[in-house]
Amino acid sequence: MERKFDVVPPAEWGIFPDGRPMVIAGPCSAESEEQVLRTARELRKCGVGVFRAGVWKPRTHPGTFEGVGAPGLKWLKRAGRETGMKVCTEVACREHVEACLESGMDMVWIGARTVSSPFAVQEIADALHGADIPVLVKNPVSPDIELWSGALERFAQAGVRKLGIVHRGFSSSEKMLYRNSPVWRIVIEMRSRFPELPFFCDPSHIAGDRKYVREIARRALDLGLDGLMIESHCEPSCALSDAAQQLAPDDLAGLLSGLVVRQADSDSSDYRETIDSLRARIDAIDGEILAALASRMEISRKIGECKKKSNIAILQTSRWDAVLEKVRTEGTEYGLSPEFVSAVFNAIHDGSVQVQNDILAKD
Ligand code: PEP
Ligand code: MN
Repeated sequence: MERKFDVVPPAEWGIFPDGRPMVIAGPCSAESEEQVLRTARELRKCGVGVFRAGVWKPRTHPGTFEGVGAPGLKWLKRAGRETGMKVCTEVACREHVEACLESGMDMVWIGARTVSSPFAVQEIADALHGADIPVLVKNPVSPDIELWSGALERFAQAGVRKLGIVHRGFSSSEKMLYRNSPVWRIVIEMRSRFPELPFFCDPSHIAGDRKYVREIARRALDLGLDGLMIESHCEPSCALSDAAQQLAPDDLAGLLSGLVVRQADSDSSDYRETIDSLRARIDAIDGEILAALASRMEISRKIGECKKKSNIAILQTSRWDAVLEKVRTEGTEYGLSPEFVSAVFNAIHDGSVQVQNDILAKD
């Protein structure tokens, strides 16, 4: 397994209690000392060890609640002292980092909007230089894996050795069930790029509605992610930000107790035997798929030559529409979803068009 960064594993951060998943919970925003303390006490009773609350809130519209600012850090510290929980908040600029280091926050995270700006990320990374606190980096607002990776690289280069990743979903212009789209393909890619970093899911910001938080948390753990950051408020309906997605502490406790944690691997001989033989079959089928793709591409090349000879354009959309329609229908007979079949065949078609393009471009 390739390790990109020289980092400290989360078990040595002194932040999370033993056991999986690692859980961070607390309100979207710190609103008052009373709300912070009450929520923290209730969460502590539910066994939560790490408390979150935003004091600087990056809101989409001006005039909405933008957080209580630095005074909220004192409430967090008091909550930490009284309950024994570790406390963390979001930072978006150098001043935030300085205030957090001064007040003794145990951990900070960088929010999605901030991660979208390399200038802001660099400024925060520079401000963290020499500090030893863990830093969690959420995904940027858009599904841009390079921007997300680049942010992690900036922190690693600034000497941050306690580094984690948080998936909170991506903005989308399409209408969808959730507030932010969970693009699990990108999560899988990030996981294999940075296997040494603990990976959290923030199902609250993906969901946008408390009724979906459980299913997203379950999905994240089924994929093998290490932790969850979940918004919880002592009185969710009165919350000044993200009211619809926050859970009452009792509901959070119910959710957590119902989660099944999956192991990364197992030595059981039964499991090994079954998985190894299934994987051998998958490997053989992958070989057949590659051979079939190569034959198909060879024919595309011949079609390209034929079109070139007769001076015909590469794209005949009606032909492609017909092919797609046919494979989508045939696919359903095999129990394959039309969306899946379309995605696969569109990728194959892109490759085929590329091959024909190359032929037509040749003198
Ligand atoms: C938050 O955690 O409250 C927050 C603002 O998150 P995000 O950056 O994911 O929107
Ligand atoms: Mn929030």
